Amino acid sequence: IRASASPRRPPGSAEGAGLSVLVTGAAGFVGTHCALALRRRGDGVVGIDNFNSYYDPSLKKARRALLGSHGVFVVEGDINDGRLLAKLFDVVPFTHVLHLAAQAGVRYAMENPASYVHSNIAGLVSLLEACKDADPQPAIVWASSSSVYGLNERVPFSEAHRTDQPASLYAATKKAGEEITHTYNHIYGLSVTGLRFFTVYGPWGRPDMAYFSFTRNILQGKPITVYRGRDHVDLARDFTYIDDIVRGCLASLDTAGRSTGTGGKKRGPAPYRIFNLGNTSPVTVPTLVSILERYLRVKARKNVVEMPGNGDVPYTHANISLAREQLGYKPTTSLEMGLKKFVRWYLSYYGYNRGTHTFRNS
Ligand code: NAD
Repeated sequence: IRASASPRRPPGSAEGAGLSVLVTGAAGFVGTHCALALRRRGDGVVGIDNFNSYYDPSLKKARRALLGSHGVFVVEGDINDGRLLAKLFDVVPFTHVLHLAAQAGVRYAMENPASYVHSNIAGLVSLLEACKDADPQPAIVWASSSSVYGLNERVPFSEAHRTDQPASLYAATKKAGEEITHTYNHIYGLSVTGLRFFTVYGPWGRPDMAYFSFTRNILQGKPITVYRGRDHVDLARDFTYIDDIVRGCLASLDTAGRSTGTGGKKRGPAPYRIFNLGNTSPVTVPTLVSILERYLRVKARKNVVEMPGNGDVPYTHANISLAREQLGYKPTTSLEMGLKKFVRWYLSYYGYNRGTHTFRNS
């Protein structure tokens, strides 16, 4: 396995920063887009993913095929496998790790709590151990989540707000991740950047997320469940388009600075950063549904029910001043535009026939 930068860059593509990046969770939604973007600008990329069955594994395999056709190799393996990670770091002198592998989703935590501990806590520690022992030590950019703001009702959320009231086990593991990465930064000199993503959506997205599952149900004429908060207030999310998130991830890699340790020993202070990556314009779920109805040209059958205590929070809204200032992060895609691109991808990927209301691919 080599993570060599492509010598021939496509005409007109951006100048690569010459990075050599291990992308964990590469067959996931965000991982696939980031790996492709890095490759496109000429950086070296190797992916790792355990292809778990949290959602349709065939979608992960299709993403892997897409990555393969762009020269990105994805190793099938678990980040808890320390020996595999050590081998990878032995073969490739990664300058950066973009850590996106995780058990995502707030509701599934009530069904399978152990999977969150496995991937988001034990897996993270296993990866950090491999990074601190690597020579050279890579800089780490990893996905935290807006869910760390939990029950905080002060909006927009800024990085300085309290994050000690998680509303789900998922959020708790992301918050723990911020603290765990801090200790590795402090003790071993690992450069760490944690990114608090706000509800990411787009083509090749996650079937467990509302915008995605709503799309299928609406097309099939099945009802969708729309949650409402206390006092009949609509839930709202700061939906952020995948291309904006990818730009934020790449800017974080480019500005990460170096880890300072070698062979597990710290040689000096290294950067520890946390940024919100959101869109700064929350949209209610009923509005999301009405945009989908317009693009799908089908009316939704809605069951509006009060939000059960399942880990969801009523409202998210990012303050992105810090990311704007330090990363040059500037989201440019409205929910209208982003959903249009998602729906176009969805109809084509699943081969939807508007005449017969059937899918060619399940
Ligand atoms: P995803 O589930 O599509 O991608 C995660 C990938 O990691 C999957 O392909 C999965 O197979 C892999 N994985 C999980 N556990 C693993 C393990 N132990 N070893 C190796 N691979 C493993 O999710 P996503 O939406 O692409 O999210 C990427 C990251 O961003 C995650 O850390 C997630 O928590 C975070 N995040 C996502 C959102 C969002 O709205 N999509 C919001 C906030 C934070």
